[in-house]
Amino acid sequence: MADNAEVIIIGAGLIGLSIAYHLASKGISNVVVIEKESLWGHGSSGRSAGGIRLEFSHPSAVKFSQYGLEMFRHFEELFGISASFNPCGYLFLTRDPGKWNVMQNLSFMQQSLGVPVTCLSPQEVSYRFPYVQIPDLVGATFCPDDGVADPGAVLYGFAKRAMDLGVTIRLGEQVTGILVHHDQIAGVKTSKGMISGRVVVNAAGPYARSVGHMVGVEIPVHPYRRNIYVTTPFMKLPQNMPMTLDLETTSYLRRDGDSILLGMSDPDEPSSYHTETDHQALEKLIETLLHWVPILADASILRGWAGLYEVSPDDTAIIGEVEGISGFYCANGFSGHGFMHSPAAGRVIAELITGEEPFVDLKPFLLKRFTDNQPTTETFVI
Ligand SMILES: Cc1cc2nc3c(=O)[nH]c(=O)nc-3n(C[C@H](O)[C@H](O)[C@H](O)COP(=O)(O)OP(=O)(O)OC[C@H]3O[C@@H](n4cnc5c(N)ncnc54)[C@H](O)[C@@H]3O)c2cc1C
Repeated sequence: MADNAEVIIIGAGLIGLSIAYHLASKGISNVVVIEKESLWGHGSSGRSAGGIRLEFSHPSAVKFSQYGLEMFRHFEELFGISASFNPCGYLFLTRDPGKWNVMQNLSFMQQSLGVPVTCLSPQEVSYRFPYVQIPDLVGATFCPDDGVADPGAVLYGFAKRAMDLGVTIRLGEQVTGILVHHDQIAGVKTSKGMISGRVVVNAAGPYARSVGHMVGVEIPVHPYRRNIYVTTPFMKLPQNMPMTLDLETTSYLRRDGDSILLGMSDPDEPSSYHTETDHQALEKLIETLLHWVPILADASILRGWAGLYEVSPDDTAIIGEVEGISGFYCANGFSGHGFMHSPAAGRVIAELITGEEPFVDLKPFLLKRFTDNQPTTETFVI
């Protein structure tokens, strides 16, 4: 028997659930979220490092982060559960003079939007963050408002509040097809039946491309494995150290309680859906990190996990209604920023569906930027 929903959301990760919550808080509660797995742990949302930062290259992305940061700071008041936000700051390091010029210019744009980012010389970095030892460091940016939060608590908060407001979340059910009638969305086919509805949102994370294919649309999002490792308790680094990132190697570290959390992208690893932890990647990561944080030679690895980044060609999300298919919306390709941008992505998709003006300019996120050959430029990519 066919069900009916005003909005059908494919995927119950942070993005799908934030959209559901934002729709329901605007009074649209006949919303169904379809998730092929369980609520937690299968998608990217269960594997995130929980980082939140305001340094982006486009004002819209900065405003996305600002909305998210405000929500994470006040999460308990809004959702009844703490997001455990820790404002440890972010320190981005570079040895590339060209990139350093760009970062300094971007800091003016970011400051004009209220971001308290400062540019640091190599001497200032050595003085304030002596564990960083990069002889050819050119400069760094530091933003004390940035930090980390608990993606599990945020996901739970979105899900719980959305359900309290009337949203239905259906787990263990896979969307296998999307119905379109005269270029208008008409519903979805699932492993358990049919649901009719005129609005479908693709929030399928690393599976966004295959959901796009259900309506004949190419959404250029590819899955890439990213590994994270955590040390045993390690007190030789400062307790209040910021998330510290080396833009050239993409290696990063931050505190995780008494331990240190470490990670890095591997540009040589091809796209795949593998999510088992890669031990060879750990060797590469340690070799890389020891070059610039030598004190880590005294640390031991306790555990690790891997998850999928959903990467777009310009490392920027794809957000909006797809031209030519009325009622088909995408919120995909967050490329490592989907936790911090989940609140704002939920807000703008809800605004688009209810016919309101989005609170930020969505031009850098439109799918058609790829066919128009006008990709968005993003400098801060890890
Ligand atoms: C190791 C790692 C570290 C990260 N660190 C950070 C960070 O520090 N800061 C940050 O902001 N972001 C970070 N991210 C990125 C962030 O986690 C993701 O961008 C975000 O979780 C994406 O959320 P999502 O809801 O789009 O995807 P997901 O959480 O993957 O959810 C999509 C869901 O859709 C479901 N689905 C797919 N197809 C179907 C279908 N046909 N039918 C039904 N259900 C379907 C999937 O099962 C999945 O549960 C990190 C990611 C990883 C892997």
